[in-house]
Amino acid sequence: MSAALNSMPHAFSVWSDDLQLLCWNASFAEINGIDARTLKAGLSLAEAAALAVAAGARPHLSAPLLIRLIRRQFARSRSGIRIHQYETLFGSRLTAITHEHVIGLGWVVTQTDVTDTTIATEAMQRRQQEIDHQRMRLEAAVNNMAQGISMFDSQLRLVICNEPYRRIYKLPTTLVQPGTPLEAIVDHLFANGMMNRLARDSYLEQRRQTAIRRERSRIVNQFHGRTIMVQNHPMRDGGFVTTHEDVTEQREKEDRIRHMARHDALTSLANRSQFLEVMSDVETRLAHGEAAAVLCIDLDRFKPVNDTLGHAVGDLVLQEVARRLLGLCRPGDLLARLGGDEFAIVLRAVDGRSIPGSVAERIVEAISQPFQIDGHQIAIGASVGIALAPRDGITSERLMTNADLALYQAKGDGRSGYQFFTPEMSEAVESRRAIENGLRHALDNNGLHLVFQPLMDLKRHRITCCEALLRWTRADGTVASPAEFIPVAEETGMIVPIGEWVLRKACDTAATWPDHVRVAVNLSAAQFKMNGLCDTVDRALADSGLPAHRLELEITESLLLSASDTTLDTLHRLRRMGVRICMDDFGAGYCALSYLRNFPFDKIKIDRSFLSGDSWTRDGIAVVRAVVGLGRAFDMAIVAEGVETKEQSDAVRAEGCDEAQGFLFYRGLPDDQIYALLKDQNPPLNLVQQRA
Ligand code: C2E
Ligand code: MG
Ligand code: MG
Repeated sequence: MSAALNSMPHAFSVWSDDLQLLCWNASFAEINGIDARTLKAGLSLAEAAALAVAAGARPHLSAPLLIRLIRRQFARSRSGIRIHQYETLFGSRLTAITHEHVIGLGWVVTQTDVTDTTIATEAMQRRQQEIDHQRMRLEAAVNNMAQGISMFDSQLRLVICNEPYRRIYKLPTTLVQPGTPLEAIVDHLFANGMMNRLARDSYLEQRRQTAIRRERSRIVNQFHGRTIMVQNHPMRDGGFVTTHEDVTEQREKEDRIRHMARHDALTSLANRSQFLEVMSDVETRLAHGEAAAVLCIDLDRFKPVNDTLGHAVGDLVLQEVARRLLGLCRPGDLLARLGGDEFAIVLRAVDGRSIPGSVAERIVEAISQPFQIDGHQIAIGASVGIALAPRDGITSERLMTNADLALYQAKGDGRSGYQFFTPEMSEAVESRRAIENGLRHALDNNGLHLVFQPLMDLKRHRITCCEALLRWTRADGTVASPAEFIPVAEETGMIVPIGEWVLRKACDTAATWPDHVRVAVNLSAAQFKMNGLCDTVDRALADSGLPAHRLELEITESLLLSASDTTLDTLHRLRRMGVRICMDDFGAGYCALSYLRNFPFDKIKIDRSFLSGDSWTRDGIAVVRAVVGLGRAFDMAIVAEGVETKEQSDAVRAEGCDEAQGFLFYRGLPDDQIYALLKDQNPPLNLVQQRA
């Protein structure tokens, strides 16, 4: 045997046509488990099989079986390969057996142990399966992701894309085949409703640049109402991957949040923060010589709507107001709701009073039209304050302050209307501020005192009651009238501590008077808004020792106008304590007789306006007569206020008034004078005659 034959890795044997062993190599003995020394030329197949079986290397093989197998293989074809599995003492082996019939020689047989190669192949197959599996998973993932993905090569030809890409752009199958030029896809998209800030050519160019410059880029497409965010990622080979994300909902959400931050939720108008933004823009324009106007709008009589019909109706009214106001704005004007029932308009690039004036007039007119809401007919109004820039200020703060001052003035006029800002308005504010500071100082430093004005019993000509009237001696020694400072005290809330001081002082003073003389104290609506009024009254009475029936509390119609259940409740509690409740200045305000029905007043004081000037002759008497009639019907005492002449006194007595108060009898007197007066009063004096 040649060395070449022996160095072959597989077994080699040649058999004659009648199956006698002619030639073999070392591996032949080895693979068949035969001792090489027992092999010799001329061995028959049967003998060789017997040797192999005898060697014990094939525990499950018998010589006849082996011979049958071999004969069957040779009989099937003249050449071929068969994989044969057999058991050895060391486990299962696989052998690939080839046979070839060579004429003139016989059968050439090779046997190769392929066990290890097969295992390797199987491992490879398993690996391949895994890869296939992963690829399928990846494909499924890529196709199921919301993002569209497309990959283009450096020639701008489609390499691959996923299903979402096709879906997002509704691409026909023909356009998603590998090799499709980007241009064809882009043409299709532009022809089928895609919109982009770039035109077709620039759009393509931008993609091309992405590939050339290898720079990431972003672009937003609009396609059939959807917003698609496109991001281009260049690849090293000159192509690029593009992701396409439908960001419609996300954008809408962002837009909504941005909108909410700058708009009022109820009316969708600009809110305060957007208004201030615009105002700062206006400031910049003012610096460049542009003019502007700011209108502050406040609704009149809106609070009662909310209070009586509820907030849901109130909200609908505000929405309708917003619609009406919007109808009056030109493009470029900004209408905002600053909160509650406050609105504002900025008119840009308007010079002079005429345009803002006419806008304000139309606002007042539009809001004064009745509102039909939820089956209710609602009448409200609007007051408008106007500041003109640069005349009334060049900063947004000053303009807003001044428009507000003008609004305050407009509202003060009582009727819905509008006012332009004037410098005097800020002076008024200054003086109010001075009053506020002065009052605070006075309260802490004995700067307040009371005078007492007697009320005369018209039948018996004697003092039955004295009204406590507040006086404030200013730092300069002048005495301020309550008409001047009470409204400021009410607005600032200072009326509460001041009112308490008045109550205590009045009760303390009255406690020194004869038993039949009462004291009357004026109360403001603001005092009812604070809890604890009953307690304050109770303490003032207890501390002074004044019996409750000697205290009269005067309230005005305005309190009842805005009366809530708690106000009425407080009034009832006071009355149950034994305190008398009087309606002051009756007829000066809204004069609704229903107020008298809602609460059992002990006394009505007819406002002095009915006794002064012409009204006395015209309708004063008629009113006095009507109120006296009412007083009788409801068992209330009637007082005529502001009696200055003997004629008036005689007339009100003749009409049946029980008491009168006025300069004809006395002005407000300091407590020592009142004390002296009351002491001397017994027996009753005919004061009317004395003083007349
Ligand atoms: P009022 O309660 O109607 O008080 C009567 C006012 O009419 C007093 O003015 C009094 O001086 C004035 N008066 C009395 N007789 C005559 C007259 O014959 N002719 C004229 N022309 N006037 C007369 P006063 O003291 O200036 O007070 C004004 C208002 O200030 C009061 O009106 C009252 O509403 C309020 N007020 C006064 N003191 C207090 C107080 O302590 N607390 C509160 N909340 N308000 C007060
Ligand atoms: Mg009074
Ligand atoms: Mg009065």
